Amino acid sequence: MKKHALVLFSGGQDSTTCLAWALHRYDRVETIGFSYGQRHQAELEARPGIIRQLRQMVPAWNRKLGEDHLCDLSLLSQLSETAMTKDIEIQMMENGLPNTFVPGRNLMFLTTAAIVAYRRSINILVGGMCETDFSGYPDCRDDAIKALQVALNTGMDTRLNIVTPLMWKNKQQTWELAEELGGNALVDLIVNQTHTCYTGDHIHLNSWGYGCGKCPACQLRKRGFEAFQKKKTLYQKAEKSAGNAS
Ligand code: ZN
Repeated sequence: MKKHALVLFSGGQDSTTCLAWALHRYDRVETIGFSYGQRHQAELEARPGIIRQLRQMVPAWNRKLGEDHLCDLSLLSQLSETAMTKDIEIQMMENGLPNTFVPGRNLMFLTTAAIVAYRRSINILVGGMCETDFSGYPDCRDDAIKALQVALNTGMDTRLNIVTPLMWKNKQQTWELAEELGGNALVDLIVNQTHTCYTGDHIHLNSWGYGCGKCPACQLRKRGFEAFQKKKTLYQKAEKSAGNAS
């Protein structure tokens, strides 16, 4: 049976890595993105360019890539007041969560994706949720995702499988996975095309990509990239000295 997946694709580092991962693994892959009244449009604007480049990068990926669905979930920004949807300063809340947390966002994304998957006869959802470097967002937890999978399947009489390839990876390992899947070309694409910065800074290009370099999302991405580069340099040095010795 052919495996058909729907990838939650925002235009950021994690979801681009997940998209490449799905293209490597499944027979047919569709993408879904959400416009939810984000403070900035940088991620959404990055999506078409990333898809175009992934198509050019690997001919098999081009053949597998199907429809891209863009859903309007602007209701989310009407319901909640967070630093992701309103122009307010990023800070910690009394409950210990940063105010970049949009309550219910991932649950709403996955539920919406499940509805589209139902229509498209797709039974695999791929999401970039991650419990390792997750700023404490409760809806990134493995248990939350698994519970939602059960709720969706029970409520829709489906056998939907929510797959989260990054769940137990830190940011360094996510860069490593990208390199494994698509070599330097994919790493370069992620550096130059994807957007992660909370403040929407798509002007400053750093070694690890566009961003302000100060917000929590930039810092996480920067630290991960630097650790990834450091490990790569150490490997190259070790290989070189082994080559010299033989
Ligand atoms: Zn930033």
